[in-house]
Amino acid sequence: ANRLAEGDVRTTCPYCGVGCGVKATIDSGNVIAVEGDREHPANYGRLCVKGTALHETLGVHGRLQHPRVDGQDVSWEQALAETARRLQAQRNAHGNHTVAAYLSGQLLTEDYYVANKLFKGFLGTPHLDTNSRLCMASAVAGYKRAFGADAVPCNYEDLEEAELVVLVGSNLAWNHPVLYQRLKVAKERNPLMRVVVIDPRVTDSCEIADLYLGIRPGSDAYLFNGLLAWMSAHHRLDSLYLERHTEGFNEALSAAQQSASSVNDVAIACDVDPERLETFYYWFASQLHVVTLYSQGVNQSTSGTDKCNAIINCHLAGGKLGLPGAGPFSITGQPNAMGGREVGGLANQLAAHMDYHTPGALDLVSRFWATEHLAPTLPDAPGHKAVELFDAIDRGEITALWVMATNPAVSLPDGAKIRRALAACPLVIVSECVANTDLLPYADIVLPASGWSEKDGTVTNSERRISRQRGMLTPPGEAQHDWWIICEVAKRLGFAEAFSYSHPWEIFDEHARLSGFENSGTSKRLFDISALAGKGRDAYDALSPIQWPVNQSAPRGTPRLFEEGVFATANGRAKLLPITPRLPEQALSSTYPLRLNTGRVRDQWHTMTRTARAPRLMNHRAEPFIELHPVDAANAGVADQGLAMLTAAEGEYRGRVRISNAQRQGEVFVPMHWTDCFTKQGRSGALITGYTDPVSGQPETKQGAVALTNL
Ligand code: SF4
Repeated sequence: ANRLAEGDVRTTCPYCGVGCGVKATIDSGNVIAVEGDREHPANYGRLCVKGTALHETLGVHGRLQHPRVDGQDVSWEQALAETARRLQAQRNAHGNHTVAAYLSGQLLTEDYYVANKLFKGFLGTPHLDTNSRLCMASAVAGYKRAFGADAVPCNYEDLEEAELVVLVGSNLAWNHPVLYQRLKVAKERNPLMRVVVIDPRVTDSCEIADLYLGIRPGSDAYLFNGLLAWMSAHHRLDSLYLERHTEGFNEALSAAQQSASSVNDVAIACDVDPERLETFYYWFASQLHVVTLYSQGVNQSTSGTDKCNAIINCHLAGGKLGLPGAGPFSITGQPNAMGGREVGGLANQLAAHMDYHTPGALDLVSRFWATEHLAPTLPDAPGHKAVELFDAIDRGEITALWVMATNPAVSLPDGAKIRRALAACPLVIVSECVANTDLLPYADIVLPASGWSEKDGTVTNSERRISRQRGMLTPPGEAQHDWWIICEVAKRLGFAEAFSYSHPWEIFDEHARLSGFENSGTSKRLFDISALAGKGRDAYDALSPIQWPVNQSAPRGTPRLFEEGVFATANGRAKLLPITPRLPEQALSSTYPLRLNTGRVRDQWHTMTRTARAPRLMNHRAEPFIELHPVDAANAGVADQGLAMLTAAEGEYRGRVRISNAQRQGEVFVPMHWTDCFTKQGRSGALITGYTDPVSGQPETKQGAVALTNL
């Protein structure tokens, strides 16, 4: 029977970064029902429509079930041996740095840990990055520059306790629906709470907004620089907080004043009404308990990191941080974007939240993993970030790529280049759950992986909360867990001793020990879950959701960071950054006069490999579409529900026209979900050029430049 469990099992939803707890009911080897876990602090029993349909997305149909090499089904032994042999052959022929991995926020932390350990620790290549680069890399870089660590200071209760919640570049109602439900209820209970939505589109999140600012795409840094200058001019700074806990204020203020000399100037730069703008400034400045919640509308930009720091600057300048109901709060898109960061799954990280430049990190990690005796040793400089990685493949500098649980052929910008690079890459290995994806035709070796309901491990949600995802069913056919596949390849590469785990709990235990290894209370390494180490499998199986750090000083976890005003920087002070706003790199022109925005729709997840299996989730939006303002529709001669085409420098996209006053004039919105497997026409990545943020490497997927044609 296809079963690991019977009865009720507590697990977590595999979709967005809210990380809701799910109670699944198993009967005769099937998940027959799901409901929200009332005891999980992320959702207290709530689920959104995607979560409630989880059991409708399961089943063997469409799953990848057998390993394949060069198009032929083979045994696992052959597939693993061939994977190891070909990886080694590429290393021998071209060097360690020609081998790379591209991971995913869909992987569990244990999968991520062993992948990072194998590639960076034992194969000696720094080129391991993740699709989380497309999601929250700018937020990570912003936190690091300000706080000295990639540390989200807030938690979900802060949203409920705030007097003012500012949603920037976040359609919370669609993309993090349970968090939106919590905010909505909190607002009903507290009539004094205000919500401000800052977004080029009028979204469903505006339903609870007291104020909406429909800003020009990409102008966020002008708006928050303007806020900093306004707070200073109106004596609304927290001078004591600035003096005791921060540095860099004067430089930040000076830059803000240069870019935002008056409210009117900012209003012009952001294309918003000056009175409404000043109302926002007044509300922000006069409340202490303010949460600014930001997401991909801020991050997916060539100046995303600067925008994050412009927001953080305002919180630091007002002392609105480290308190209940206060702080700059970045919400991740994927279920385990943060878990991946914890183990070092970004190319600029080494391991356990340490970067290459973290003092002593290379030596520490090398000793912990016992790689000192290996030739080569750990790489000593960061690897290629996602877009750079595929550029390096395109140039022939990377000759072997292992992709796990993601589909770069769809999700990365400049899709034609990505596909060309994959086609020319001498070795492409793909670990995947689904039998039919746009990536698989490029794979030399295909490894069938287990999926949600089958995997065992942990994930970390947007508020630093580590939760268990629990296996309930056995994987279909010959599919195997990602951690197992990686370890088996590692053994065949000669690293049996270091990869001899028999269960994910052993990997988690090692991960927890590494986080606390030589990490004293005075260390600046904030990520520390050492109190979860050494507990054994039963404790792992029973692990309750808990927020890191979890160490000797905080054995029950840490709901909020920086309450003492001490940060993870060398001198303990938070840093305000001078920000000079920059406009999108994808410039509008007479050829491409419309600003393109891309994003999710409410009921779909990523490339729809799971959500499209539940018919009721297709009812909300059934096909690729182009949403645009009535004037733009009239100018192009397109009718509502007609077909139209968008063209950009890199490609084209066809979709059903949806005319909407929610769009600003001159701007269009398309969903990111459809792939060539669903339709040859509606892949949004075809329209985006691969410009990236110079600090975070995050691509500018929110601000394309396109032309519209009637079909
Ligand atoms: Fe899943 Fe996110 Fe919906 Fe919660 S809000 S049920 S984590 S998709």
